[in-house]
Amino acid sequence: MSQSSQVSPRPRKIPRIVILGGGYVGFYTALRLRKRLGRREAAIVVVDPRSYMTYQPFLPEAAAGSLEPRHVVVSHRRELKGVDVLTGRVSEVRHADRTVRITPVEGESYEITYDHLVVALGSVARTLPIPGLAEQAIGFKQVEEAIALRNHVLNKLDVAASTWDPVARRRLLTFTFVGGGFAGIEAIAEVEDMARAALRYYDGIAPEDLRFVMIEGSTRILPELGEEMGGYALEQLRKRDIEVHLSTFLSSCVDGHVVTSTGLELDCATIVWTAGVKANPVLAQTDLPLDRTGRVTALPTLQVASQDGTVVDGAWTAGDCAAVPDLANPGSFCSPSAQHAVRQARHLGDNLARHLRSAPPTDYEHKHVGTVASLGLGKGVAQVYGIKLRGWPAWFMHRTYHMAQMPTFNRKVRIVLDWTLALFFRRELVALGRLHDPRAEFRDASSTPRPKGTTQPAAKEQADAPRTSLATPAG
Ligand SMILES: Cc1cc2nc3c(=O)[nH]c(=O)nc-3n(C[C@H](O)[C@H](O)[C@H](O)COP(=O)(O)OP(=O)(O)OC[C@H]3O[C@@H](n4cnc5c(N)ncnc54)[C@H](O)[C@@H]3O)c2cc1C
Repeated sequence: MSQSSQVSPRPRKIPRIVILGGGYVGFYTALRLRKRLGRREAAIVVVDPRSYMTYQPFLPEAAAGSLEPRHVVVSHRRELKGVDVLTGRVSEVRHADRTVRITPVEGESYEITYDHLVVALGSVARTLPIPGLAEQAIGFKQVEEAIALRNHVLNKLDVAASTWDPVARRRLLTFTFVGGGFAGIEAIAEVEDMARAALRYYDGIAPEDLRFVMIEGSTRILPELGEEMGGYALEQLRKRDIEVHLSTFLSSCVDGHVVTSTGLELDCATIVWTAGVKANPVLAQTDLPLDRTGRVTALPTLQVASQDGTVVDGAWTAGDCAAVPDLANPGSFCSPSAQHAVRQARHLGDNLARHLRSAPPTDYEHKHVGTVASLGLGKGVAQVYGIKLRGWPAWFMHRTYHMAQMPTFNRKVRIVLDWTLALFFRRELVALGRLHDPRAEFRDASSTPRPKGTTQPAAKEQADAPRTSLATPAG
């Protein structure tokens, strides 16, 4: 790898393909390229701050304790054989110089050069400047967030069961989710299901003490499923006493005090933000063409192209960060979904391999096959190839489909084992809150004892911590 001072303009004997991002698109593109191209035909480098690919559709099950979180991620180093993996954040791309700047977790940033670039930087949560949101809420896109949410929710049950203060109890047992799309609905449904299942071990908490609230700005939930099936999901959630407030916007949530556009006010200890995604903002630090929403503009061949259709030589893109024309729905762009991401990644790998062998690239076209969503253990909703499924069959289809899609045999087996074990021993319901601050106990033990009556630094830190923030879950 060349450092910034050593960037060499000399043509390489073997072309170097640098893939930015090792999520769905990055991971599957690297696999495909390695399958298509021998090591003497191309060197492949994947850059990602995480050393694993996350299978995001399984995050709700990981948050609900039905799956071990480690099993929903796939190690880059283990699975991407013959691919160089760099753990670091891409901070700048100068495509004109075929150069990427990488900021590693430690040490100075450096540059690497390439012949072909694959931009697979995905998306980030689309947030709004709502008072209190940045301090109080947590997103739901990463495995770390799923683990933190699960520990946090179970911890709130523990704390609520051990306090006599009715106001604190009410606040601790109120959970607010904002955004009724896929991620939000699956997350609230799975987490509510887990919390209710956990109540069998909490004599002091009655089912009606739990309050789950969904705030959604549009007039329906799960728009991907159409009106009928979205309506069914809404009805199911309401039957479970999950409050779904449609046409409602979050106005403020300072210190966990939620205020909405419709005048609803409540205090809660948990706010989960799942109100959509936007293209990775680091794309603004590149000289690649972007559309007005910040996505890299592309042709159906997955080659980066300016708005007028001029191909940017040596640059390719796909997935959530790319504006790829949807040939199955002329006039629109492919939606940010795993369904497109996986297929585009394979297509991109094939096209890039063809290009290196001087063959012309082909267009990507995929007709959305449908949608499956879990609404908790044994509950679901699905619409696949026009067939509508409800309840257990839909949930079974959700599990079967995602298990089949999960990369690597190793992970498929572990997932099936997790589900099988949960059938016999029920899901795991221990809150490991201390995971998020594993040094707390040692810090307390190491602090110099102070005279009686004065505050210990660690205890004071805890007292100063925001009451409801998910950023610092208590153990
Ligand atoms: C909870 C949840 C459930 C979902 N369920 C479904 C579903 O059921 N069906 C479906 O079709 N879709 C689903 N999706 C959407 C789907 O997961 C995404 O569309 C898909 O992951 C997009 O793939 P991607 O490669 O573009 O982005 P990602 O998979 O997000 O990958 C982006 C990668 O870029 C890396 N990265 C970020 N910044 C940098 C940087 N500066 N430098 C280097 N690397 C960087 C990230 O670490 C990540 O690895 C779900 C999403 C979520 C959050």
